[in-house]
Amino acid sequence: MKLRIKSSDIRKIEGHALESFPNECVGLMIGKTQKNVFETIEVVRAKNTLNSPVAFEADPQFVYDVYKDAEKRGLQLIGIYHSHPNLRAYVSARDAEFMKFWGRLVWLILGVGRDEIVERKAFMMKDGKVYEVEVEIVGS
Ligand SMILES: [Zn+2]
Repeated sequence: MKLRIKSSDIRKIEGHALESFPNECVGLMIGKTQKNVFETIEVVRAKNTLNSPVAFEADPQFVYDVYKDAEKRGLQLIGIYHSHPNLRAYVSARDAEFMKFWGRLVWLILGVGRDEIVERKAFMMKDGKVYEVEVEIVGS
């Protein structure tokens, strides 16, 4: 599996992570899946309703609205991104619980410091196991 994402969208996500520091940020990735590629067409910021440095939650109504809007345009919710302030980009126990709940989505996690993105990794869960997914950045 592979996550394909435009560099402009990566910059948006990284900007969101830095702005939200020291709290976690969260957002949605909209796009298409084809065979082994999750292709991101756009990213949508969500609000971390927990305002927490160690956890995130997005308003379920907001997520549903974004999901339905994508569907209307022939697109899908393909992934979720969030940040780990002062920590690495890994799947926490809490993240793994969410992954189980959400099913076939790709999870982009950023390890972020005060002024820098330290690490960026993508994961998926299949049959209850977490796999790292290659991130392919395209465009300028
Ligand atoms: Zn996390």
